[in-house]
Amino acid sequence: MSNRVFDTIIIGAGPAGLTAALYAARARLSTLVIEKMGSGGQAATTDWLENYPGFPEGINGFELTTKMDEQARQAGASFVSESVTGLIVPEAGGSLFTVKCTENEYLGTTIIIATGADHKLLGVTGEAELRGRGVSYCATCDGPFFKDKHVIVAGGGDSAVQEAIYLTRFASRVTLVHRRDKLRATAVLQQRASSNPKISFQWNSVITAITGTDSVKSVMIKNVSDSAASEIPADGVFVFVGLVPNTKVFDGLIELDDKGYIVTDEYMATSRPGVFACGDVRKKLLRQIVTAAGDGAAAAFSAQEYAENHK
Ligand code: NAP
Repeated sequence: MSNRVFDTIIIGAGPAGLTAALYAARARLSTLVIEKMGSGGQAATTDWLENYPGFPEGINGFELTTKMDEQARQAGASFVSESVTGLIVPEAGGSLFTVKCTENEYLGTTIIIATGADHKLLGVTGEAELRGRGVSYCATCDGPFFKDKHVIVAGGGDSAVQEAIYLTRFASRVTLVHRRDKLRATAVLQQRASSNPKISFQWNSVITAITGTDSVKSVMIKNVSDSAASEIPADGVFVFVGLVPNTKVFDGLIELDDKGYIVTDEYMATSRPGVFACGDVRKKLLRQIVTAAGDGAAAAFSAQEYAENHK
């Protein structure tokens, strides 16, 4: 695989990368997808998606992304499982990008970056120490461990509220700790959380530490209005305080915004000709699976045009 030159190399296999792979392969571009942890991205860890069109009853995130993966492979895209460590741009007069991975290097005429974003950390004492021992970033993965327990959810966006609701299937009580007195999450989720008797809200509050030795015992809270400190006993802490784009290896090669997201135009073109970006990794208004898929289709279309002109 590493000796071949691909028309396009897609880095990342979440909904954006998988859709780009489907469109690129159907356009008869030789297409390689490089993914480090299996297809699906963050969407695969979402239990129930209610806003992806075509599924009025909703659909499980893993099921949806598994089908996207299947469809891209059926169309002819090749996949390798590797971690990307660098991107080397073509030398003057050359036209091939080199994608450096932990094991191999791959050559491509165009690159589509679809590396998504990772969960932002709270950055408080106890978070790293108790990760996997009560501190989690994935409710679908770890929720069942908290049957009849009290869990804390940090954050006020769609992820925090959606996952807090999901966690009530297992936990006896969910306390959502949010730094303001108003949620950022979409109205339908806010209403659902507010009417769920298992969910209570700790407004204007931030977590300052997570305590426990072998497992989570409590969270220390500070009220941001009057700085009053308090302790809430809890068995688990789920952190959903936003995202950090996976762009470290591209820093210095393409334009990023002040938060590290890739700047693109509507063609998904980055500041470097031949390099496109799609999905959560790029600077954009709305980060949803449906917009990631739309970005992926546009990126593949643009990559096709570029590859045809640079062969
Ligand atoms: P988000 O929308 O950026 O929300 C992050 C939340 O965490 C905000 O409420 C923010 O508070 C809070 N926060 C940020 N830093 C914090 C810190 N250091 N300490 C305490 N709280 C902090 O992130 P997200 O919820 O992960 O969602 C990411 C993207 O995916 C969004 O575009 C979202 O719409 C999308 N998404 C959609 C769905 C859906 O459609 N069902 C589900 C999940 C995610 P402030 O509000 O005060 O800023």
